[in-house]
Amino acid sequence: MSTEAPTIAKYRFCPHCATPLIPIEKGGRMRMACPRCGFVHYRNPTVGVAAVILDGDRIVMGRRGPTSSYPGAWCIPCGHVEWDEDIREAARRECLEETGLHISVGQVVAVHSNFHNPAQHTVGVWFRCEIIGGDLQAGDDLDLVAWVPLDAPPQPLAFPTDGLVLAQLRRTGPKSA
Ligand SMILES: [Zn+2]
Repeated sequence: MSTEAPTIAKYRFCPHCATPLIPIEKGGRMRMACPRCGFVHYRNPTVGVAAVILDGDRIVMGRRGPTSSYPGAWCIPCGHVEWDEDIREAARRECLEETGLHISVGQVVAVHSNFHNPAQHTVGVWFRCEIIGGDLQAGDDLDLVAWVPLDAPPQPLAFPTDGLVLAQLRRTGPKSA
């Protein structure tokens, strides 16, 4: 059991009744809880999706725009799954928003935990995707999208786990992804 205080807890007040939260031990961890209504702040990672679009030894990647997080860094097109949204629908939506491409969503290429942002942990799911329409054009978080060589992706990468996925794709070859 961890007795460590929740030093990076974000919530100080109950989101339901605005009572100041207090630390309690529940499920082997210290968590912030509401002494009035019983709300417990379980901090869980959110889910991210990324669209792996390959053509031979090339992959679609995007450069993050000036108003996004990690501006100027490159990533595989990605985003967060919304509440009430199916994970594959999220992949289709994010890909269309960021690259202008309509895709079909295929097999899972990789799943990784992302800890690069201490304030927001995520679990990322990378799907192999095929283009079914649209024109490659940057939008939303990206200001540039391009086909780039798998063995020489542009740097820097925004997310360390994209580096793991790119290395996996180089190792296994695009055909097996
Ligand atoms: Zn409350």
